[in-house]
Amino acid sequence: MKVPLLDLKGQYQSIKDEMTPVLNEVIESQLFILGPNVEKLEAEIARYCGAPYAVGVTSGSDALLLALMAMDIAPGDRVITTPYTFFATAGSICRIGAVPLFVDIAPDTFAIDPVKIRALLERLPEAERCRVKAIMPVHLYGQCADMPEIMAIARQYDLKVIEDAAQSLGAAITVDGAERKACSIGDFGCISFFPSKNLGCFGDGGMVTARDEQVARKLKSLRMHGQTYTYHHQYIGMNGRLDALQAAVLLVKLPHLDSWAAGRQKNAAVYAKLFAEAGLLEYITPPVKRAGRSHVYNQFIIRANNRDALKEHLDRNGIGTAVYYPLCLHLQDCFSFLGGKQGDYPEAEKASQETLALPVFPELKREQIEYVVEQIEVFYKK
Ligand SMILES: *Cc1c(COP(=O)(O)O)cnc(C)c1O
Repeated sequence: MKVPLLDLKGQYQSIKDEMTPVLNEVIESQLFILGPNVEKLEAEIARYCGAPYAVGVTSGSDALLLALMAMDIAPGDRVITTPYTFFATAGSICRIGAVPLFVDIAPDTFAIDPVKIRALLERLPEAERCRVKAIMPVHLYGQCADMPEIMAIARQYDLKVIEDAAQSLGAAITVDGAERKACSIGDFGCISFFPSKNLGCFGDGGMVTARDEQVARKLKSLRMHGQTYTYHHQYIGMNGRLDALQAAVLLVKLPHLDSWAAGRQKNAAVYAKLFAEAGLLEYITPPVKRAGRSHVYNQFIIRANNRDALKEHLDRNGIGTAVYYPLCLHLQDCFSFLGGKQGDYPEAEKASQETLALPVFPELKREQIEYVVEQIEVFYKK
């Protein structure tokens, strides 16, 4: 049996009839840059997240970059973030000349650990602490980072918060007694519509959410080279626009997002049950969902004994898997100038050695999940 890590063809078939006329309409209009579809999507994403404003941009990476630009993060400023994430998180910080200050993760959620953020801020000398301008937590794999604590720290130290929600559109967490969705909590929320995310377009796309109108207007200017009216530039911006075809695709898909997430959650529950029944919990640890949070399982990540050999075994037997992420950011060649070394962030480093993504996309069949679990059992027990 073949079980791909992700196969989007089934999803496409299920919405093809809705999609074709909408795409044709954009093509017939020959209006590809911004326009009504982008505006409508911005309004719908803002409403979906419970964020006041949303601005469509070229990608999740540019969403992060534009958020940093909108808050005037300058060369030499420090931004606290996690070393265990996709490259773009810290990449965006360095791209504008700021310096990422890495803080280790909590081992259960794989997200930045607020206890360690606090410890870092307390240990920094005053002059250095003044340079810290923001925290960029990542809602990794589909579950929110510890936002109540992160927001409390941000208030105490007067820091901005940029949520990297590229993997977690729709994930919820209780903050001050109320359920909040990713992107509605910090000052900015950054979304990616890369095809493998839970809401993916037909190429690259992204969105930034913002809390106030002034900031939203600045983001809209920055994505148009900082223009405020035609060919008059208040800021040095960039070409960072979401295009109309992608917005049209996303408008068709958005109404299905919650049911797709439910499909992922159902698959995750099937895995958890089968792992326990097969007696596999001494070899692997399924994803942990903390109380007061939902999990939308953009990735279904297990910790596994002897991870690399398990991966090889599953690959050989037709099961698609992936390692997110095999090398922590503080150990990447391009960040060597930051002086990171092995041992700096032990939980992140341990995760990079132990984690494995298994197929969890909503169209997966029960037999396919059973087969994955069977093959894991074969690996550990036979
Ligand atoms: C995918 C991803 C991004 C970047 O999004 P793109 O749309 O691919 O540029 C940023 N951060 C995280 C955590 C991601 O998973």
